[in-house]
Amino acid sequence: MRTDVVIVGAGASGLLAAVAARRIGHRVLVVERGATLGGATSASDGHLWLPGNDLTGRNGIPSDSPEEALAYLDALAGRGSDLTAARRAAFVRTAAVVARWLSTSKIGLEVVRSLPDCRPEVEGAKPQGRTLRARPPAATLDQEWAERLRTPAAAAPRSGLLATLRRPFGGRSELNGGGALVTELLRRALPSDVEIWLESPLTSLLLDGGAVRGVTVEREGAEVEVRADRGVLLACGGFEADQELRERHLPHPTSTVWSTGGGGDGAALRAGLQVDAALAGLDQAWWTPVMVTDGAAHRLDVARVAPHGLIVDRAGDRYVNEAEPGGSAGRRMYEHNWGDRSVPSFLIVDNRHRKQYPLGPWPPGTSPKSAIEAGDLVRATTLNELAESIGVDRAGLLGSVVAFNQLAKRGKDTDFGRGESAWDRFFGDPVLRRNPCLGGIDRQPYWALRVYPGDAGTKGGLVIDQRSRVLREDSNPVPGLWACGGSAASLFGDTEPGDGSALAAALVEAYRGVVDLSDQLDRIDEALG
Ligand SMILES: Cc1cc2nc3c(=O)[nH]c(=O)nc-3n(C[C@H](O)[C@H](O)[C@H](O)COP(=O)(O)OP(=O)(O)OC[C@H]3O[C@@H](n4cnc5c(N)ncnc54)[C@H](O)[C@@H]3O)c2cc1C
Repeated sequence: MRTDVVIVGAGASGLLAAVAARRIGHRVLVVERGATLGGATSASDGHLWLPGNDLTGRNGIPSDSPEEALAYLDALAGRGSDLTAARRAAFVRTAAVVARWLSTSKIGLEVVRSLPDCRPEVEGAKPQGRTLRARPPAATLDQEWAERLRTPAAAAPRSGLLATLRRPFGGRSELNGGGALVTELLRRALPSDVEIWLESPLTSLLLDGGAVRGVTVEREGAEVEVRADRGVLLACGGFEADQELRERHLPHPTSTVWSTGGGGDGAALRAGLQVDAALAGLDQAWWTPVMVTDGAAHRLDVARVAPHGLIVDRAGDRYVNEAEPGGSAGRRMYEHNWGDRSVPSFLIVDNRHRKQYPLGPWPPGTSPKSAIEAGDLVRATTLNELAESIGVDRAGLLGSVVAFNQLAKRGKDTDFGRGESAWDRFFGDPVLRRNPCLGGIDRQPYWALRVYPGDAGTKGGLVIDQRSRVLREDSNPVPGLWACGGSAASLFGDTEPGDGSALAAALVEAYRGVVDLSDQLDRIDEALG
């Protein structure tokens, strides 16, 4: 089999790359390991952090520019190495191009209103406008392909609390943002003769004197060689689904169960080994605190931020602003974990919280019997009893709750600053005007669940340059090989600039990679200035 471009992985980045490569005129084959399409993208809200997009500067959305976005990224993490600086500069210049590419492809985008950057207080941050999501698709896929689209497990959507409460929980009938994006990309890929092979995992790269000339995939029980005259793009995610790789690289303890649905099995790392690719950032992930029930992880974006609840370690002490962005909250769980103190931690809420707000997969006001029987959710009449049931120091917990209730009364968290940032307030309860994230814990029964440092995918991977070319240790590119998204080391290092930065980086890198393998990137970069 011979083609121009082989793309490994049919998530959003692989599909965007496929459509873009096809438009440039290449023959394209997408090989996908799973029986379904969409990868982690279709399980996600599909938020896209694309600074400088054309929706900014109108309809009450503040104006934005690549320069401001770059200042923000630099302020978050420092300028870093020349390679990082070049990747960041390329990202901020290309983000708006990708947003425009989606819009001109008639993939409707909208601003996630009122959602600020993760660090709104930092220079160059914006109060809203950079996080976008795909609108519901203009048309559905035909049944054959609709059945092959990965659908997410029911999960509380990641929007402000008001929006969350207005939406029905569990079994949402409408597509989430990630599903909408994948559907729209597929609706462009299929009629344009992009070839897609499902259940065809990459097994190795085809090499010729150090250059990548194609791939070998497993297909219907046989090893099939596919030559790629232009190149191979690895868009097959990270290694979040491989326990052995997690243990080798991520902080301990770690578990695939704490991952919220990414399916990366380390295929990109294994391919990288074949060509002596440089690796970076392997100890990092897109952390997000989760709870686990029925063997599945659920994010706690609303539950940990909403009033009438707090997070404590095994000693019963608070140690983190519960409302922090997932990335820093998850990292904090590990940093604080000396003596196994904070993995797991415990989310303690009172009955007002339980009645009003979602908790993991459970809608407000429900008492999930099987989870209570399994010990995933613990209920007790007193805080003393609760502490005993979950093995947390009683005096510590009582002391923390008393102190927290005083802070809640004053509406100011002088210990950890919960509710001070616009980011915190987006996820809080707007009904509480003084501090939407603070409320006392004093209505029985009390509830507790274990909190783990979960993730929405790993962040480390193959080192790529601003052209998305995979680099060797000596910084030379591997001819014929490009990578993007979870397959590549994140350009954001251990920072998280905005909601949607993982997916946005994946799309930008995929786009730049395809344009580069078509020898058109210099022209585009020149036009961008
Ligand atoms: C629940 C959840 C919510 C999230 N929310 C957001 C969000 O709102 N915004 C954001 O920026 N990020 C979010 N993320 C992360 C984001 O979804 C991913 O970073 C993004 O989808 C990556 O896209 P991708 O195309 O690179 O990879 P994926 O969408 O993961 O696609 C990779 C594909 O490669 C396939 N594959 C793996 N191995 C092989 C192999 N050997 N051969 C062939 N194919 C293979 C996989 O099956 C998969 O289909 C979320 C993740 C999860 C799980």
